[in-house]
Amino acid sequence: EGAGDDATGDVVLRLDGVTKRYGTEEAVTDLSIDIREGELLTLLGPSGCGKTTTLRLMAGLERPSEGTVELNGDHVAGEDAAFVEPEDRGVGVVFQDFALFPHLNVRENVAFGLTDLDDEATDRRVDDLLDLVNLAGMGERAPDELSGGQQQRVALARSLAPEPDILLLDEPFSNLDVRLRVRMREEVREILKEAGVTAVSVTHDQEEALSISERVAVMNDGRIEQVGRPGDVFEDPESRFVASFLGQAGFLSTHIGESRIETTIGTYDHDLLRGYADQYVGATVDTLVRPDDLRATPANESTADGHITKRQYTGPSFVYHVRLDNGDEVRCMHNHAERFEVDEPVAVELVADHALAWYPTE
Ligand code: ATP
Repeated sequence: EGAGDDATGDVVLRLDGVTKRYGTEEAVTDLSIDIREGELLTLLGPSGCGKTTTLRLMAGLERPSEGTVELNGDHVAGEDAAFVEPEDRGVGVVFQDFALFPHLNVRENVAFGLTDLDDEATDRRVDDLLDLVNLAGMGERAPDELSGGQQQRVALARSLAPEPDILLLDEPFSNLDVRLRVRMREEVREILKEAGVTAVSVTHDQEEALSISERVAVMNDGRIEQVGRPGDVFEDPESRFVASFLGQAGFLSTHIGESRIETTIGTYDHDLLRGYADQYVGATVDTLVRPDDLRATPANESTADGHITKRQYTGPSFVYHVRLDNGDEVRCMHNHAERFEVDEPVAVELVADHALAWYPTE
């Protein structure tokens, strides 16, 4: 079980009110977050939202324009603090391109940061790390004699070698092909858990973020919009942006009546709405429905709720885009046995087995 928003572990790294400006460009705005011992937290967001800048502020590769950075309770950057350089922070960084030293073999790469140990202790530590990343026996190879996945594991072992208090991973899987990416993210997660290391990873891939992290921080335009466990941010996104960024999202225009809520595809109990309270009676809101919350069935023009506008092949399933007669745009997921054609009229049924998130109508 991962650490949620209510996590109680010790805070390893804290950003408090951090803003970073480059000239007039604000890359990160008033950002506050705690990273807790042993967790893997992922910064997730679209290109340019400030993920890399946030990671660089954590590493000490950038200085905040405002706000403070704390490591294990000590200020390492901020107005009132002397700036602690990256090499003195106890922070490990795994770069996107792995940045291995090409002229050093695997052992020498892993041993590179182990300057405090004698030869024997260094050898032992390198052996342990090569075991940890499943590269025992490959110590004598040069980086260019390794596959992409193996190079990544060397980079990971090298950054874990000095036992950093926190490990920062910048888009760690983006240089791997799709199949390897999925395998390596499982492997890297297992290695991090086995090493018991606290880590922050950066990605724009929502599936990666949801599958490897204890917590996900969703960023938009230099700010964190929501932080929480993967299941919570996916099922209960606090904003439309988070809802749409984390997966396919449709919205049902919903009128909240005295006794029931009304949509164009049916009326339901109030408790279909997450966190429903009496004071919302009379309001019209947009209810979030994901493709697996809805099912389409064949209909004729008089029984239809809407029609198919697009069919999207996703491999194991089809996602149908449906335009409902009142203008709502939703999506329905189906297996291959149930096929619809574009323009076909369909009835749409709500099959969600959980309460749904909703937002004020725009
Ligand atoms: P990507 O996923 O594309 O790497 P990102 O979320 O990591 O994006 P950042 O690289 O942190 O985003 O950039 C955030 C914003 O700050 C962008 O608008 C970018 O253009 C700007 N920015 C980043 N670094 C600098 C810099 N050194 N000088 C000026 N502007 C910068």
